[in-house]
Amino acid sequence: MCIRVQYAPIGSARPYDAATQTIALPTGLDRERTVTAVRAILSELAVPQPQFGARCFCGEPLDLAPRIPQQRTGEQAVTHGA
Ligand SMILES: [Zn+2]
Repeated sequence: MCIRVQYAPIGSARPYDAATQTIALPTGLDRERTVTAVRAILSELAVPQPQFGARCFCGEPLDLAPRIPQQRTGEQAVTHGA
C-alpha cells in the first residue's frame, strides 16, 4: 500500500501515521508547500526523494494535487497566513 496524503487541521493528526501510512498536512497549504512538507516528512522516514516532487518508498510518485473544497467561495477566500 502506498503512502497517502491527507489534509487535516493542525494538531488533529500525526504528521505520519505508520498504521495507515498516511501523511497528514495542515489544510490550506499551496502545492509548493505541500511538496516541501511531504518531502521533509518522507526524508525523516528515510525515503529517498527525487529532485522534484515526492516519491513513495516503493518508488511511485505521490499524487499531491491540491484537494480544493467543493464549496470554495472564490479567490477572496484565499488567505495569506504565516
Ligand atoms: Zn508506494
